Amino acid sequence: MKTTTNPPRFQVLFIVLLMFAPVSSCSLLNIFDKVEPPFVYEVHFVDVGQGDAIYVVTPEKNVLIDGGRRNSGIVEYLQRLEVESIDLVIGTHPHADHVGGLIEVFHTFDVTEVIDPEVNYSTVTYRDYRTTIDSREITFTAGRSGMEWQLSEGAVMQIVHPAAPSTRHINDASVVARIVFGDIAVLLTGDAEERAEREMLARSEPLRSQILKVGHHGSITSTTLDFLEQVKPEVAVIMVGEGNRYAHPNEETLHNLEAAGAEIYRTDTHGSIVIKTNGIRYVIHTTSEETLNEHEN
Ligand SMILES: [Zn+2]
Repeated sequence: MKTTTNPPRFQVLFIVLLMFAPVSSCSLLNIFDKVEPPFVYEVHFVDVGQGDAIYVVTPEKNVLIDGGRRNSGIVEYLQRLEVESIDLVIGTHPHADHVGGLIEVFHTFDVTEVIDPEVNYSTVTYRDYRTTIDSREITFTAGRSGMEWQLSEGAVMQIVHPAAPSTRHINDASVVARIVFGDIAVLLTGDAEERAEREMLARSEPLRSQILKVGHHGSITSTTLDFLEQVKPEVAVIMVGEGNRYAHPNEETLHNLEAAGAEIYRTDTHGSIVIKTNGIRYVIHTTSEETLNEHEN
């Protein structure tokens, strides 16, 4: 639901307080502050061209999911935010448009822990990425369905895929994270395709999320109707490079997302997309134009 005014429940509370509580406007404001917490959680879908890089901020821990290709600009983006250390990095799967940019991230920032699907993959980029994790003595964890990380009070990251990663279908080995901020959930699918979506549905993973990072750059091989039916996204973010040679995103995928009622944001047309939430409502900012949409859960 889209709104530009205060949610009705706050208006009702306000009226009730005015009727029954002979309090000063100052303490009334304090009560209102407690009901409407500040927007302390942020999810940045960083425009890195054709590739993924998602930066998550909570009051206690920060997380980076993928870093785009080498020299993708993710390091400069994080430096502009004055980031010095990163608690958790997820390399969703070994492809260069996801882990390439993480190598420079490891050299630039203090990273505590890295999660990836831990599959055998022999490209130079993936080898460099794994070697850098070892040489920087960063804790490495194989991400598996069922794992959870508490990011802050009220913010939990759940891993919902893979259970047993396939080495033959690297996209389907993607670590899929669902981050829950109060009542607002964000599903980050990496390049998971149909097979991975089927597996998540078969395991009855928690998938329902207001915000979906669309799988595999909006390719037709992801975002099946059954998967969409479970996620029920209000907002779909597609991370895709302008004029990319893969013809991402696919027209039918766009149509299916629209038919499911999702509002579509794309890094090739909107630039970087930032979603801020207080666990009750969320707002969306984009860098390409002055877009500010407010959503109430
Ligand atoms: Zn990719």
